[in-house]
Amino acid sequence: MSTTPKVTEATARQRVHSLDRAVAGVDGARTEAQGLTVLPGSDGGRLAWHFTVRGAAADGSPVRQEVFVDARVGGIALSYNNIDATDAVPAEGTGVRMDGVEERIAVNKGTDGSYTLVDSSRDMYDTAGGQIRAYDAARKNYLDVANGPVTEDVKVVSSHGDRFDGAATMSGAVDAHVNAGKVYEYFKNEIGRDGIDGKGGTIHSVVNVSAQGRDYANAFWDGAKMVYGHMDGVPLSVGLDVVGHEMTHGVTEHSAGLVYLNQSGALNEAISDYFGNAMETADKGIAMSDPASGLVGEYLCMHRREAARGVRAA
Ligand SMILES: [Zn+2]
Repeated sequence: MSTTPKVTEATARQRVHSLDRAVAGVDGARTEAQGLTVLPGSDGGRLAWHFTVRGAAADGSPVRQEVFVDARVGGIALSYNNIDATDAVPAEGTGVRMDGVEERIAVNKGTDGSYTLVDSSRDMYDTAGGQIRAYDAARKNYLDVANGPVTEDVKVVSSHGDRFDGAATMSGAVDAHVNAGKVYEYFKNEIGRDGIDGKGGTIHSVVNVSAQGRDYANAFWDGAKMVYGHMDGVPLSVGLDVVGHEMTHGVTEHSAGLVYLNQSGALNEAISDYFGNAMETADKGIAMSDPASGLVGEYLCMHRREAARGVRAA
């Protein structure tokens, strides 16, 4: 299949607005070009220009329309709203953390009356429909969960009532949810950054992975989401320094883009360590200049050894 477009990107952008009826109704539409892509199909695929259109629907709910314009004939090949919260509304619930402390947490309430660990209360929800979502891998092997978007077989954490305890606590989901919210607010308030991608994109945390059924005593950012295991039965997501460290890897990937190799790998680690520490000390009300601030953030990321090896080789 040829990957040379016959339709220019500028023409395709015009077609988004002249041909797609879903986009015509969007209030304050902002169109972002995502480049050329191939849509899968039985005929071997279809070359298309991809655009994301953000704005608001007539009822005020956020829209994030993904539109694909055929790059040969210029028609709309595919168009869908990438916000799946239309059947749920933001609500408040109670989360029981691993240490037993109960907190009011932001959740979603579905039309069926059930609740999910989905936070639609942050600024990014208004700007881009961005949410903070927690999923339970139910002890799946960490390698099967790593890399790419969350798969269908890994479910968002849900509850019949507005209280999240029991499995939602022991899996580390409540702590991951609370801490991801704190990290989001830290980046927003301290450096004016809207989420991991800086564009208010949804933040995904997957907890409760295993190493072939045994505790997987680590956590990592896999390029699309945070993944957390347990150490001696305690979920790694209980540590704000751990959650801050891993989410910062995502921020670094989307901003400085430091390749995970040699010196830049060590710098990538150092940046994550710094922010993880800064977030935890700020949360506990300790100044970074206080010697006690060095007592937190002793966490070792799975990448650490790799980075250290790179430095020695360089
Ligand atoms: Zn790290």
